[in-house]
Amino acid sequence: MIEYFITYFIYDNLIGRLVFRKGGGTMTLTEASLNTLSDNFNDLEPRYQTKQPLVVATAKNILVDVMQFRRSAELQSACDVATCDQCASPHLSKIITAVSKGEPVTFVLPAFPGKSPNPSKVLGPLPDMAERCALEFLQSLNDRIKRHYSPGARIILASDGRVFSDVVGLRDEDVTAYQNEISKMIETLGLNSISTFNLEELYHSESFDEMRAHLMDAHGESVETLKASVSRGKFLDSSIEDQESHRLYLGITRFLVEDAMMPGQTKSRSSIQKECRVRAYSVIQRSKAWGELVERQFPDAVRLSIHPQACGSKKLGIKLIEPDNWATPWHGVAVLVGGRYILLKRAQAEAIGAHLVTRFGRPSHYVLTNKEEILKLQGALSEA
Ligand SMILES: [Zn+2]
Repeated sequence: MIEYFITYFIYDNLIGRLVFRKGGGTMTLTEASLNTLSDNFNDLEPRYQTKQPLVVATAKNILVDVMQFRRSAELQSACDVATCDQCASPHLSKIITAVSKGEPVTFVLPAFPGKSPNPSKVLGPLPDMAERCALEFLQSLNDRIKRHYSPGARIILASDGRVFSDVVGLRDEDVTAYQNEISKMIETLGLNSISTFNLEELYHSESFDEMRAHLMDAHGESVETLKASVSRGKFLDSSIEDQESHRLYLGITRFLVEDAMMPGQTKSRSSIQKECRVRAYSVIQRSKAWGELVERQFPDAVRLSIHPQACGSKKLGIKLIEPDNWATPWHGVAVLVGGRYILLKRAQAEAIGAHLVTRFGRPSHYVLTNKEEILKLQGALSEA
C-alpha cells in the first residue's frame, strides 16, 4: 500500500513541483504547500503515522479547509482547527480513506428541509436567493479543496423536511416543491459537487406518513430516553451526546416558537412555548432517526451539521453563508448589504427599509441601501 503511493508521487524537476498521478488524474502540490503538509504531519496522532505521510497530511489540510467554517458550540474557546486532534479525530480517518484511494471526499449534510411556514420570516415556500447563497457557499468548499486535492469533494444534502414536516407545520406538497426547486437550482447553477438525498428515495410506494412511521420503527428512540439525555445535557460534566441533545432541544424549541408566532395568531407566548417544548422532542426524535439512517446509507461520509458542535463531536457543525449570523436560509431571507448577502428574518429586513427584489417573476431577496442601517448591521455582524 505504501509502495503504491511512493511510486505515484513524483517530484517533477522541470516544474519544481510534486506531482501525484492516479487513474489519469494529476494533482500538483506547490513546494510551499508541501512544507505546510509536512509540518502538519509532525503533529499527527501516532495511529495515523502508519499511513503514507502525504496522504494523511493532505487529508488534514482538507479537514482544515472545511473546519475553518465550522459552527462551534464553544463560542469563547473554540479549538484551533489545525492542531486539535480531538476535533479532527471523528472525521480524519474517513478523509484519509478517500484520499488514499484518490477519490472525492464525501460529506453529508441533513439540511434544506423547506421554508418556515411563518410569512414574517421568509418570502414563501420556495427556495430563493438565501438558498442560492448557501448552495454556492457549499460548492465553494469543494473549489477550495480542489486547489490542493484535485478529486475534490462530494456534498450530499440529505433533506430532512419530509422527515418532520408534520411536526413543524410544513405541508408535504411544499416540501416536494422545495426539494424540486433545490435540485433545479443545483443543476442550473452548475454546482457539480452537490447532490441530494430524500426519504422517498428509500421507501418508494408508501404514503409520506407511512414512510415516516417506517423510519421511526427502524431508527427511532423512545421519548423517555431522549428526555433523559436532554436533561443530563444541562450539566457540563455530561457526555458530548447529551450536551448536544440539550443544545438541539433549546435550538429547535426556539425555531418552533418563532415559526408559531405568525402574524394574526391569538395564543399567548407562554402557551406557544409550552406546546413547542413538547413538539421539539418529536422533531429531535425524527432528526436523530434520520441521522442514523443517513449514517448507514453513507458510512464513509464526513457528517456535517447546521447546528454548532462541540470539540470531539461525531458531527462537524458548518456555516451555510459568510458572514455567519446564526441564521439558516429556510428561516430567513437574503439581504444584500454593502455588496454581500446576509440572512435576516423577513420582518427585520422590512423594518430597516430594505427593498424587495423580484427575479424571474418571484420574490428573491432584499437590498439595503440606507447607509446608516448598513453600518449598524455590519457592526452587529463583526461583533457576532
Ligand atoms: Zn477540539
